[in-house]
Amino acid sequence: MKIKFLGAAGTVTGSKHLLKTKYGNVLIDCGLFQGLKSDRLKNRAPFPESAKDIKYILLTHAHLDHCGYLPLLVKEGFTGQILCTGPTRELAYIILKDSARIQEEDAALANMHGYSKHHPALPLYTQKDVEKTVRYFRTTEEKKWIELFKDFKIRFHRNGHILGSCFIEIRSEGKIIIFSGDIGRAKSDILIPPASLEEADILIMESTYGDRLHNKVSSMEQLAYLVKKVVQKKGNLLIPSFALGRAQEFMLLFCRLKEQNKIPDIPVYLDTPMGANVTEVYLKYPSWHKLSKEDCRKIKAGIRVVKDYKQTLKISALSGPGIVIAASGMLTGGRVLTYLKKYLGDKRNTILLAGFQASGTRGRALQEGAHELKIQGAYYPVNATIAQINSLSAHGDQAEMLSWVNGFRKKPEKIFLVHGEGNALQAFRLKLQSVMETEIIIPEEGNEFTI
Ligand SMILES: [Zn+2]
Repeated sequence: MKIKFLGAAGTVTGSKHLLKTKYGNVLIDCGLFQGLKSDRLKNRAPFPESAKDIKYILLTHAHLDHCGYLPLLVKEGFTGQILCTGPTRELAYIILKDSARIQEEDAALANMHGYSKHHPALPLYTQKDVEKTVRYFRTTEEKKWIELFKDFKIRFHRNGHILGSCFIEIRSEGKIIIFSGDIGRAKSDILIPPASLEEADILIMESTYGDRLHNKVSSMEQLAYLVKKVVQKKGNLLIPSFALGRAQEFMLLFCRLKEQNKIPDIPVYLDTPMGANVTEVYLKYPSWHKLSKEDCRKIKAGIRVVKDYKQTLKISALSGPGIVIAASGMLTGGRVLTYLKKYLGDKRNTILLAGFQASGTRGRALQEGAHELKIQGAYYPVNATIAQINSLSAHGDQAEMLSWVNGFRKKPEKIFLVHGEGNALQAFRLKLQSVMETEIIIPEEGNEFTI
C-alpha cells in the first residue's frame, strides 16, 4: 500500500491524503487550499491524480480545509462514496453550500466592480455543484467497523475538534493506520474530549500548534475585559470566526457572561445564514456534545442572525457598542470583509482573532502588526485594536497533542507530521523524538511512501 500527500503537507490547508491499495484508492479528507495565493491557485489546477480511481473518501470533519474540495473532485469524475459521521454530513452540506454561495457572491461583486484579475471572475463551484456532491455521502456510526475492500476495514473515533469530528482507524495488510484529522482539546465547554486510542503502526498526525502552548487565562475573563473596553469606547467588537464550532462557543460564552452580569446587554450579531442551521445540528445530535437543550435554546434566543447582504450593510453601518461574529475566520473572504472595511480605520473598534491564522491570510497580517490591509482592491489603514485569544482554539496545543500520542499502549513505528507550518512541524518533530523512538517524517506535497 502507498500513501501520497496531496495537501496540508508543510501547510495547514488543503488536507488530502491518498491511500493507493491494490483494491482501489481511498482519499482521506478532501480540503480546499486557503491563505497564500500560491496555495489557492492549486484549487483551480487539475487534480493531480485520477478522481475516477478513488473509490472512497473518508472525511475526518466538516471544516472547509478538509471537505471544501469535494465538489471539484465530483466535477473531475469522482463517483464513489463519501463516508463520515452523521453530524459531519449535515455540517459539510451547510459549509459547502455556504462556501459556494460566498464564492458566487464574491465573483458577482468582483465582476460588478471590476477588481478581479480574471474576466469574468468565476466561482470554483456553485450551489448546484454542491447538490450533486452530497448525493455521494454515506454516514457511519462511531466505532463501527466497515469493510471497504477485502482486508481493508475502517472505523471512526471521536476526536473533540468540532461536532462530529473523528480520528480514522484503518486496518489492512496486518497494519493499523490512524489519521488524526484535527485533534481537539482535552477540556472544552462544548465537546467531549478526544478518544484515547490503544495502538497504531502508522500515524498521520496534525501539527497546527506543534510549537505552542495555549494561554491558560480563562476565556470568559478575557472576553469580558474586551467587551467592557469596547463598550467604554462605544466601538464594535468584530470576531472573524469559522461559522462552525467556534461561533457556537462564542455565542455560549456571551450568553453566560450576560447571565452573570459580567458584560452589559449589548447586541450580538451572527452574520452567517448558516449559523442558525448549525445550532439545529447540535440539537439533533445530543450525544456528540455537552450542550443541553436549554443551552441551545438560549444560544438561539440571545443572538441576532443576519440573513442577507442588505442586513449586513445596515448593521456594519451602525455605531457601537455591538458585537459581530462573521466568517471567514482568517479574513480570506465572506461577509466579515464588509465589517472589516468599516471597522478597521476607527480606533474605537476591536478585531478579535480567535483561531489559527494561516500565512498569507489577512488574519496573519493583522496578527503580525500590519499597518494597512488590502481588501477587494483598496487599502484600509489599521487603527482598530487587534486582540487575540487562543484559549478558545479548537486544536490541542503541543502538550495536549503529545499527551494524546503518549496514550498509545503500542506506539506507532512511523509518524507522518502534516497540517502544520514549518516551525510548528520542526518543533513538534523534535519534541516527539525526545519522548519516543519512532521514525518521524515531514512529507512534502506530492511525496509518496510505501507503508
Ligand atoms: Zn478543522
